[in-house]
Amino acid sequence: MKVAITYHEDFGKNGFSVLKERIRPSFEALMEAGLVDGVDVQVFKARPAPIKLVEQAHTAAHMANMATDPYREVALLSAGSVMMAAEMVARGEADSAFAFTGTAGHHASRGSCWGFCYFNDVAITVARLREMGLERFLIIDVDPHFGDGTRDFFGNDADVFHINFHSGTDEEHDPAKNNYDIGLTFGASNERFISALKSALELAKDWDFQIAFVIFGHDSHQDDYGGFNLTFEAYPRMAQLIKEAVGEKGLVFVLSGGSCVHVGERVIPDVVRVLAGRWPQ
Ligand SMILES: [Zn+2]
Repeated sequence: MKVAITYHEDFGKNGFSVLKERIRPSFEALMEAGLVDGVDVQVFKARPAPIKLVEQAHTAAHMANMATDPYREVALLSAGSVMMAAEMVARGEADSAFAFTGTAGHHASRGSCWGFCYFNDVAITVARLREMGLERFLIIDVDPHFGDGTRDFFGNDADVFHINFHSGTDEEHDPAKNNYDIGLTFGASNERFISALKSALELAKDWDFQIAFVIFGHDSHQDDYGGFNLTFEAYPRMAQLIKEAVGEKGLVFVLSGGSCVHVGERVIPDVVRVLAGRWPQ
């Protein structure tokens, strides 16, 4: 299989209020695009992440705070969606994957969370993949909000290369700890974003990792709520560049920020098209 897609209808029904409206229309647009053929591109129903792994990732205090949170169940399902997608890629059942979510993860630290995030889906998944014997991971966070939760988990872990786009002015690379923050000023254009992505991928492509995650927030689109000013053309270009840099290693796209229905409806099928090797159309 070329692409595994993990999805659950609860993401659109019970997902975080800002994020959920785009889910069902985006999934329907993906189905209508004719990409899901049951052979090269298949859809799998997400299951909740095992609570034990979530408890290992987060502090007891955070778990206690989350115990009565109305988004707890959909956050567990979102983490499970990412985990299921990555497991299939790790086992070689799929070359790449796209995980739908109903809550985001990159603002969830070990002991706290904010910004539509509850559990850190990618950190929990990395822990699971390490149980399976994988060691080194590349995380490319293209959501325009700083991935502080992911940094809390992996800032001191040199076996995780964290490339972190955000709205800001500073560019900071720590080669010892494999952290690379790329601040793009408000209203960053396609050209600015793509050229920064190329530089970052140049650093990462020869680094020895087994699976790459893309924290895919389409709130970077000019019509959406984030600070960048990207247009539709940027997304398949981004996906193509990342796919080329990742090469034969595994690649998992993780849905993150974004609320605009018409943006999700277009960019999600476009990314899957690239992953499936069907771009340009
Ligand atoms: Zn965001």
